[in-house]
Amino acid sequence: MTGEYEVVIGLEIHCELKTKTKIFCSCPTDFGAEPNTQCCPVCMGLPGALPVLNRLIVEYAVKAGLATNCTIASRSKQDRKNYFYPDLPKAYQISQYDLPLCEHGYLNIETGSGAKRIGITRIHIEEDAGKLVHDDRLGTLVDMNRCGVPLIEIVTEPDLRSAEEVRAFLQKLRAILIYTGVSDCKMNKGEFRCDVNLSVRKKGESTLGVRTEIKNLNSFSFIISAIEYESKRQIDMLESGDPVIQETRRFDPATGKTYSMRTKENADDYRYFPDPDLAPIEVTGDMLRDWRASIPKLPDERKAEYVSQYGITAYDAEMIVSRIEVADLFERCAALTTHTKIVANLIITEVFRLLENDDAEVPFSPEQIASLAEMLGTGRINTGTAKQVLKEIAGTELDPETIVKERGLEQVSDIALLEKVVQEVLEENPKPANDYRSGKTAAIQALIGKAMAKTNGRGNAVIIGQLLKKQLS
Ligand code: ADP
Ligand code: MG
Ligand code: ZN
Repeated sequence: MTGEYEVVIGLEIHCELKTKTKIFCSCPTDFGAEPNTQCCPVCMGLPGALPVLNRLIVEYAVKAGLATNCTIASRSKQDRKNYFYPDLPKAYQISQYDLPLCEHGYLNIETGSGAKRIGITRIHIEEDAGKLVHDDRLGTLVDMNRCGVPLIEIVTEPDLRSAEEVRAFLQKLRAILIYTGVSDCKMNKGEFRCDVNLSVRKKGESTLGVRTEIKNLNSFSFIISAIEYESKRQIDMLESGDPVIQETRRFDPATGKTYSMRTKENADDYRYFPDPDLAPIEVTGDMLRDWRASIPKLPDERKAEYVSQYGITAYDAEMIVSRIEVADLFERCAALTTHTKIVANLIITEVFRLLENDDAEVPFSPEQIASLAEMLGTGRINTGTAKQVLKEIAGTELDPETIVKERGLEQVSDIALLEKVVQEVLEENPKPANDYRSGKTAAIQALIGKAMAKTNGRGNAVIIGQLLKKQLS
């Protein structure tokens, strides 16, 4: 699609931190409460109200920085970013400008052409704004509950070159933040949302093109669609000789297009200045040491362990660690059965299918998966049966072994019985049998299928295949 052009992307990610209370007051941060029931003079910005920084915010932001290879500032400060919008009652947001908590980090991602390092420019802390609610009858209303919910903003270098790289980066970043315990990153609750800065240039050019910024994307599929649409739009503009204008755009999921919202403001427009109500933030060596020690094993470390301890492939391991609940499931299964490769296989082919939505929960217990893996590994059931049973037990506490026993789903490996089945199949299906004999070896699949059907899907496909080959030669 991009032809002789290169797409250049940098991201700004807003992530809500998982604290019980807000960043500058003790109001709760719970999602979904009645509008305007979780706010006080501080988060509503009433005159004279004074903010006090929640210590846990600093701890969480620093942990996010350590987990993404950042340098941590021993001294940083908070600044007022001034702008007017009805969801921002103070008319300024408390953020960090020239001295962010974390800087110069990176993450390595897997791309089609190998590993790639994506630079992280900075991570700073800031407060979220409220929410406007549009009501057909009452007009536009404001809900202040979200005012003062703690955020980190993670800004990347313009190192990304495609929607696929963006997806890989965001998935890895999200997994790390969840592993580190600083956020649940539920995208449907707006806990992890992303601004995409995108420009295009001719391949080989060294200066960056003019960028647009697409605001507030909160699902992977929207991010991918927005990037695809916006790259094409900019390339078409350059091709027809029109300049790209630096501006803020929004993505409309209904049309799959981006639309201009406003021309981009510059830092100068915000009249940043240090917040006089808040003391500088100091991070001591002791704090750093304690916080570093409390960071659990991150995805890459778990991945390396799975490959070396359980003999699964790096590709499978990468997929399993991409979601902590899946990685936890895998480890708990591995403690229950030695058939870890089968566990990995079941997880990748069957469990992930049920987790398409990024916020979905795993509908199986470790005992259920381990029991199926054990029955598969010892030949008691075949893969078809395993899939069928998995479907049935999803979201229940049913025991796979009981189901197999009660319903007689055990695999049929009795040679004499299978020989009879194979005999019948060959007599009833002369065409694929002849095809096989005349060299079309793929025809054996049709015969195996017929034989499996005769055993109600319970036959041992390996033995059936062997018997068929013997008969046909
Ligand atoms: P702001 O958007 O607040 O003005 P910055 O100027 O720091 O902040 O840039 C924000 C993001 O835009 C960063 O992720 C950066 O990598 C990205 N970016 C900057 N210039 C370009 C460009 N020409 N093309 C694509 N991304 C860019
Ligand atoms: Mg920006
Ligand atoms: Zn409050």
